Amino acid sequence: MTADLLSRDAAVLWHPCTQQKDHEHYPLLPIARASGVWLEDVHGKRYLDAISSWWTNVLGHANPRINAALKDQLDRLEHVIFSGCTHEPAVALAERLVKLAPPGLTRCFYNDNGASAVETALKMSYHFWRNAGKTGKTRFVALKNSYHGETLGALAVTDIPLFKETYAPLLMESLLVSSPDAYQAEPGQSAEERALAAAAELEELLSTRGAEICAVIVEPLVQGAAGMRMYDPVYLRRLRELCDRYQVHFIADEIAVGFGRTGTLFACEQAGVTPDLMCLSKGLTGGYLPQSILMTTETFYEAFYADYASLRAFLHSHSYAGNPLACRAALATLDIFEQDRVLERNKALSTRMHRSTLALRDHPHVAETRTLGMIHAIELVADKTTKTPYDWRERRGMRVYTEALKRGAFLRPLGSVVYFMPPYVITEEEIDWLAGVAAECIDSATRG
Ligand SMILES: *Cc1c(COP(=O)(O)O)cnc(C)c1O
Repeated sequence: MTADLLSRDAAVLWHPCTQQKDHEHYPLLPIARASGVWLEDVHGKRYLDAISSWWTNVLGHANPRINAALKDQLDRLEHVIFSGCTHEPAVALAERLVKLAPPGLTRCFYNDNGASAVETALKMSYHFWRNAGKTGKTRFVALKNSYHGETLGALAVTDIPLFKETYAPLLMESLLVSSPDAYQAEPGQSAEERALAAAAELEELLSTRGAEICAVIVEPLVQGAAGMRMYDPVYLRRLRELCDRYQVHFIADEIAVGFGRTGTLFACEQAGVTPDLMCLSKGLTGGYLPQSILMTTETFYEAFYADYASLRAFLHSHSYAGNPLACRAALATLDIFEQDRVLERNKALSTRMHRSTLALRDHPHVAETRTLGMIHAIELVADKTTKTPYDWRERRGMRVYTEALKRGAFLRPLGSVVYFMPPYVITEEEIDWLAGVAAECIDSATRG
């Protein structure tokens, strides 16, 4: 049965972010069903989904309350064009998010995936300045090691060479500044000092070239694809001040960190700042359906509001924008956050994740373990004293992945960074078990 499914797959499929030839050595997992934190393959073998199915799932697979909301919605309205039409789930979700988001974000623009929310933010920022007569503003600033998605516009503000280099000739040129990433702090430099130094570099750029710059885009508090690199919230406060001072927009890409990942519903809350544009996706629908929302301010909305012939409108669309099923899944997700006091409950889980791998800090190939909310990362290195990374060709992370699968954990590292980013329905016992598996696999993968 598995062989059959895998050979049928091999005949017709091409998987995302995959060198297909790898499947000669690393067979695909044929998943039949999932429940809570557990994925189950066609043989009934279970795997703990330690990375929430690419960071999307927040409240567990096959969550009964989200399932019920979707079944109810299915018999009412599955989808309708969102240009010229509206519907209860889309309005209710926007009302809800406006209440929950950082104050001032009062408008929701629907798209249907994360990268398209980023594309929309970039286009909207440029277009805002154009409508204001500032046509010289055409550039975007991103942080080193940033990740904002892989369509051409999003890739242009991404700085992960593995994803970007090949396509560089096709991309608009963005301006890169140092990341506030605390892992890269100099010896003796605190996370806050590191963040302030990075902000000073940003100020240098904005003060000299602000007139060309539309916006600065950041992943608030955690650079996910860079390896769950974390930074001090002071950077976001400085960023807000600098954007105001030099008339540049602040785009917060909360696609990975939104919906409780960093401990607060939105990461920006920890800095007490409101960005001009905020991208949401992934956890938005509980990890059920592709959908995204770009939230923005009334100032933005008004900059586009005019008679049709003025040609100021934002004429951007995606077919599945505002999909009613996705909106219902999102509403059910927010209901559960409220009813189960999820953020409150997560505090104990976060502490448990932090504690569960403390012993690994003494491991000769672990440079650091770090935790923020429901993200926990273990940084593997070739040399601990110099923090020299492993040569990527050694694919140490892949060894961890393979070993973990044997033990029943779906633990898919980012390069040499092993991380836990589980659905919030994980138990403390499951965290301890996962940490045990990770420790064994790290031992095995760093030997030799
Ligand atoms: C996943 C991600 C994206 C892209 O979202 P997709 O839905 O995969 O296109 C953008 N930004 C961040 C921070 C992400 O983690």
